[in-house]
Amino acid sequence: MTLWLATNNEHKKRELEAIFSDYTLRTPASAGLVFDPEETGSSFIENTLIKARALFDLVHEPVIADDSGLCVDALDGRPGIYSARYGSTDGQKLESWERNQLLLKELEKATDRKARFICSMVALFSHDRFYVVQETLEGEIIRESRGTGGFGYDPILYLPDRRCTVAELSEEEKNRISHRGKAGRALARLLSK
Ligand code: IMP
Repeated sequence: MTLWLATNNEHKKRELEAIFSDYTLRTPASAGLVFDPEETGSSFIENTLIKARALFDLVHEPVIADDSGLCVDALDGRPGIYSARYGSTDGQKLESWERNQLLLKELEKATDRKARFICSMVALFSHDRFYVVQETLEGEIIRESRGTGGFGYDPILYLPDRRCTVAELSEEEKNRISHRGKAGRALARLLSK
């Protein structure tokens, strides 16, 4: 069975390929499709459905979409659904490392450093038929970036029980414990039934 991934993010694609290995996975980019829907939802779940329905309208086959981000307690859950656009001005996106530096600066004086990655994921078969799951990876915002693996905010989310940041995990380890790994495996289990 073919599943379309509603993403053009190579890192996400690699993480999802490891989970949905029983399926033929296709991305809009691999089929030459222009896919950049506006994420106008007010929650991860709403944005996930926006992406999934937008891709379904192009391909008319089952779609996997996810929306994810970093939620920091001391910032009342920011950057949250705006994680990819955090610190942007005039529509100009910052590089990942610039976003990380900005966040560390914003949290300079914060003592409560609890934060989590959230991933909402959907397997959608038609506009009105879908499964949605949402998972988290809990951690703390470290004071200085560490590690070179993964992407995005991985170098600044510290996992106290592992004594490392997400960027210091191997790809396999990250997938085993991550918000996206757990959400993906839950959906894969549903699909296999
Ligand atoms: P999305 O593509 O709209 O879901 O944007 C998610 C944004 O959240 C990404 O651009 C990253 O900045 C951040 N993010 C999501 N998942 C992760 C992760 O696993 N590690 C690090 N950053 C992540």
